[in-house]
Amino acid sequence: MADLMKDLDFFNLDELLSDEEKMTRDTVKQFVEREVMPDIERHFADATFPMRLVPLMAEMGLLGANMKGYGCAGMNNVAYGLIMQELEAADSGLRSFASVQSALSMHAIYAFGSEQQKQRYLPEMARGRLLGCFGLTEPDHGSDAGAMETRAKRDGRGWVLNGVKRWITNGSIADVAIIWAKVDEGITGFLVEKGTPGFTAFDMKGKFSMRASITSELVLEDVRLDDGARLPEARGLRAPLACLTQARFGIAWGAVGAARTCYRCALDYAKSRRQFSRPLAGYQLVQNKLVKMFTEITKAQLVCLQLGRLKDAGKARPEHVSFAKRNNVGEALEIARMARDILGANGIVNEYPIIRHMLNLETVNTYEGTFDIHTLILGRDITGESAFE
Ligand SMILES: Cc1cc2nc3c(=O)[nH]c(=O)nc-3n(C[C@H](O)[C@H](O)[C@H](O)COP(=O)(O)OP(=O)(O)OC[C@H]3O[C@@H](n4cnc5c(N)ncnc54)[C@H](O)[C@@H]3O)c2cc1C
Repeated sequence: MADLMKDLDFFNLDELLSDEEKMTRDTVKQFVEREVMPDIERHFADATFPMRLVPLMAEMGLLGANMKGYGCAGMNNVAYGLIMQELEAADSGLRSFASVQSALSMHAIYAFGSEQQKQRYLPEMARGRLLGCFGLTEPDHGSDAGAMETRAKRDGRGWVLNGVKRWITNGSIADVAIIWAKVDEGITGFLVEKGTPGFTAFDMKGKFSMRASITSELVLEDVRLDDGARLPEARGLRAPLACLTQARFGIAWGAVGAARTCYRCALDYAKSRRQFSRPLAGYQLVQNKLVKMFTEITKAQLVCLQLGRLKDAGKARPEHVSFAKRNNVGEALEIARMARDILGANGIVNEYPIIRHMLNLETVNTYEGTFDIHTLILGRDITGESAFE
């Protein structure tokens, strides 16, 4: 079998990476080969998340990797993206874990928390000793998160929260949940710790996608919190959206990793499997698929790298991130489907990683803004007309 983790670098993009960026990528790649690949199919089959990886990832500085201070590694955004790419080359669920811990939960505290909250949570989250989750979506509000029904009411000097959050990654394993709720002034965020009376998390069953990732429903029934649990700088929907922009950045990179694994596997298979008179790779229709796959991966790599450089220069707009998330995930899903087709019947079994990636990418295409929602974001950007409502 081909080396599925091997890079695909048609345009010598390696030359555009610093030694530190390459070292970070290669270290994560080796970690993934050594620690993740041997039993990721089993975790997917059993619908379990490989918890033993958490301290290992923390030790490597992968949690909150692009944040400065508070025990975080302070890497640049390109290095952070490369980490996400290598994690998702193994499984989207593993990258989701890292994204939710870093870009959603830690970032929410980093960007909108008080100094006291930052000191209390961030170093422990970077060490993997405290896990976070990000509760925005509700049973009746996904794409229109601003219409959320979860409410926080003033009660003396504290708050009382009621509501339900659904589809929450890491929900039942999280020590602290970032809960987005409406108050009189609009939307704000709260830190709800595990074990708080009235707060419960249930794992969602029956998923055919993201099986090596925990997805939960969070129920808040008269949850009483001190004012110190509110994120003081989180004012309005722009706060959770800013966290989503961070996470979508990592997803755009991650999808390239998943696509690469599918492409490598399909290329290897097409070269070794003979039908009729020659290897599958010798037929024009198969070559057409392989060329399409490899072209889209190469284009996505270029988008990621420039997006990362713009982000490091403080010039990346949310619309740049929408472009990359929409394009790279949409193409990765198409690539996974084409790769599955090239493997024929073998494409549906877990002896090969493709069907797992394909199923995972269905989620990745939906969460953090669906493909079509990002189309609307970009449509608004280029026309000046909003087509949301
Ligand atoms: C495995 C998994 C993990 C997740 N993890 C998290 C998490 O950690 N935290 C969290 O808060 N959420 C999480 N989500 C939820 C995810 O973000 C939502 O599923 C997503 O925002 C879409 O919402 P929805 O599923 O309610 O779909 P809907 O919003 O109901 O959309 C359904 C369809 O309608 C389309 N649509 C919606 N509005 C429009 C419109 N105006 N114009 C045209 N088409 C439209 C969409 O593009 C989509 O195709 C997760 C989801 C999954 C599957």
